Amino acid sequence: MKSLAEIQQMMFKCHVCNSEEFHQALVSEIFQIEGKFYLVEQIPVRVCSRCGEEVFSRETTERIRVMLHSELKPIKSISVDVFAYPPESKAS
Ligand SMILES: [Zn+2]
Repeated sequence: MKSLAEIQQMMFKCHVCNSEEFHQALVSEIFQIEGKFYLVEQIPVRVCSRCGEEVFSRETTERIRVMLHSELKPIKSISVDVFAYPPESKAS
């Protein structure tokens, strides 16, 4: 028997367009915790079939949070270029 929480997790309703159709995908996402950025790859998400909105399950979000707060070593490190928006206008 499934708990109510499990059943709610199986149901999908896009909060952007209210579509109930989705497909599973793996994405990479950047998380910011206490001023540090973490890139997490291969995260399972539900992608809205209509508008493409990515929805993380509560369980997935919790797992990522625990993982990033643990002593787990990252598999690799990358450097990231940071830009400010809006771009500086080139007055010549
Ligand atoms: Zn949608």
